[in-house]
Parts: sequence; C-alpha cells; structure tokens
Amino acid sequence: MYDLVIIGSGPAGLSASIYAKRAGLNALTLEQNPMSGGQVLNTYEVDNYPGLPGINGFDLGMKFREHADKLGCEFMEAAVQEIRQALAAEQRLEAEKSEMKAASFSDDIERDLGFAVVTDQGEIKARTVLAATGATHAKLGIPGEEELTGMGVSYCATCDGAFFRGKVTAVVGGGDVAVEDAIFLARACEKVYLIHRRDELRAAAVLQKEVMSLPNVEILWDTVAKKIEGTDKVQALVLENVKTGESRLLTVDGVFVAVGIIPSGDILKGLVDQDERGYVLAGEDCMTSMSGVFAAGDIRKKKLRQVVTAVADGANAVTSVLEYLNSK
Ligand SMILES: Cc1cc2nc3c(=O)[nH]c(=O)nc-3n(C[C@H](O)[C@H](O)[C@H](O)COP(=O)(O)OP(=O)(O)OC[C@H]3O[C@@H](n4cnc5c(N)ncnc54)[C@H](O)[C@@H]3O)c2cc1C
Repeated sequence: MYDLVIIGSGPAGLSASIYAKRAGLNALTLEQNPMSGGQVLNTYEVDNYPGLPGINGFDLGMKFREHADKLGCEFMEAAVQEIRQALAAEQRLEAEKSEMKAASFSDDIERDLGFAVVTDQGEIKARTVLAATGATHAKLGIPGEEELTGMGVSYCATCDGAFFRGKVTAVVGGGDVAVEDAIFLARACEKVYLIHRRDELRAAAVLQKEVMSLPNVEILWDTVAKKIEGTDKVQALVLENVKTGESRLLTVDGVFVAVGIIPSGDILKGLVDQDERGYVLAGEDCMTSMSGVFAAGDIRKKKLRQVVTAVADGANAVTSVLEYLNSK
C-alpha cells in the first residue's frame, strides 16, 4: 500500500511528487497521458514563472518531470476512473466473496484504512490520495482555433497578454474572466475587442463599469466568432451578428478565448465537496471534506490558476499529507 497516490502529473502533481519523495513517503504518481506536464505542455512560452523567463511551456513541463525522475519518484501511466474508500472496497470484496465461494481472497485486506484508486490498469491502494487533475479550458470549437493555439490563440490573458503589447486583440466571452481579460489586455494592447454573443455581459457590475470606461476596449454585442484565420499566426476573426446574420472580418493579432474552464473533477464526485462547477472545496492546506483526500492545483477552488500557484499547492498538500499520516 502506498502512503500517497497522486493523480495527475501537471505542475501540481509533479511538485507534490518531489516534495513527497524528499519527505520519504512511499508515493506513486498516476498520469493518464504518455507525457507529464499537464496544460503547460500546450503553452508556447511561459514568461511569469520566476527564474526561467521566456521558457517554452513544453520545456518547463519536461524540467519538472526530469527533476522528479532525478529524485527517483515513481510514475505510472494510468487513467484514474474512481476513488473508493478502502472500507467500501473491502465490503465489495466481501460481497464478491460470498457470491463466488470457491474463490480465495487475501485475509489481510486493510480495515477502514486508506483508499482504492481504480484505474484502467487495475486497482491501487493508498493511505492518502492527492487529486492534482487540473482543468481544461472550454473551446470555441471553430475552424482555426486548434491550428492557431499558441500562435495567437490563447486561453490565458495573464499568461500571454504581454506578447501582444501595442497590438490588436479580441477576447471572446462575456463572463467575469472575459471582462477581466479585456481589462488586463487593455493596459498593453492598442485595441481590445470584447466579443459577446448576447446584448448584455454576465460579468460582475463593477467589472462591467470598468471595462466600459476604457477608451481602447470596444464591445461587439450579439456577436459570435465563426472562424479564426491566419497562416502560422492569427490574422483575422470571422464574426457573425446573431440578430442580423451579418458577417464581418475583424483584423486582429490575437484571440483570447474566455468561454469557461472545465475542472477535471468527475472522479471526485460524491467523494469530496465540490462547488457547482466541479472545483474541489479545499483551502491553502489542500485538505478536502474527506479525511485523507487532498486536492492541489487548478482543480482546487481558488482565485488564480497558474503554474506558480499549482506548484505551491503541491508542496502544501504534501505537508498536509504528512500531518495526516503522522496523526494516525
Ligand atoms: C494555453 C495555456 C497557457 C498557459 N500559460 C500559462 C503561463 O504562461 N503561466 C502560468 O503560470 N500558467 C499558465 N497556464 C496555466 C497553467 O498551465 C496551469 O495553471 C497549470 O498547468 C495547472 O497545473 P495542474 O497540475 O493543477 O493541472 P494540469 O496542468 O491541468 O495537469 C493535470 C494533469 O492531470 C492529469 N489527469 C487529469 N485527470 C486524470 C485522471 N483521471 N487520471 C490520471 N491523470 C489525470 C492530466 O492529464 C494532466 O496531466 C496556461 C494554461 C493554458 C491552457
């Protein structure tokens, strides 16, 4: 049985692996993808992680993983499907046992201790579980979006806004994140278009007031993006007015998509408290409502989702895991 099973090897999971190894824990990190690094792998350039200015996102992900490998952290490629309390797993085995009388089962199934992490590679037992499963940004699903991601299409204004200094950008969305992105970009960009499919924003009133006061932000109401055009970099957006059906071509250097983030929290449903969107309710100590289950990185409900906050969570989570194990 592992002391700790970490689910996900993005920045939060890799930081946790490193801290767990250094703390002498018997830890295993599970990753569903063939490669570690998480969302950061898709980032052309990360220019806000201290000490590594302008690093390519892929290289940063590789550096995190190399560090963990150097320390001898244990990894396994596996997609976690479910997390069960060991007691429930034991009860399930007991039930199976009574149905299949001839089968022999081990007598030393742990009693009310830890968790069974169910993966596509089998079941793994752990005294504690850390969910570092991250989140994915909702996509527009329009032509050009995937091809030009990292070449002018971005899902993170805080991360990539600085690359568009003095340029013309468009933000697609109408909620808090979209409006915050437009305000953030307006500081550096010559012009920012906020493209919203409705005739009123969903963002908080205070944000709406601020964005509308900015001379270099123009809101295009009742408008949807139909296509992103460009060869090797974004050049224009094809827009459509949903009321008139009229199409237009908008010349832009960058498109920031802010139509929502989807937390990868399905495997935690029913196990820990989550908000209405699926983010895990856990404080800076990364402790969830379920004793022994922890959450770190973008999956946790918090204000700022960045590499630097994800790696901080990984470290904090392991500190909480140690406290938990020492208290047993
Ligand atoms: C395009 C883009 C650009 C960005 N640019 C920057 C930037 O410049 N600076 C910055 O600080 N931040 C940036 N970010 C944000 C940053 O990447 C995230 O905040 C950070 O990656 C979060 O780390 P995480 O470990 O919490 O989650 P993730 O990076 O999402 O990693 C989660 C990992 O868990 C794995 N996983 C999920 N579910 C399972 C499962 N059931 N079983 C096994 N494995 C699972 C996933 O495969 C993934 O590898 C950017 C994000 C994007 C999308």
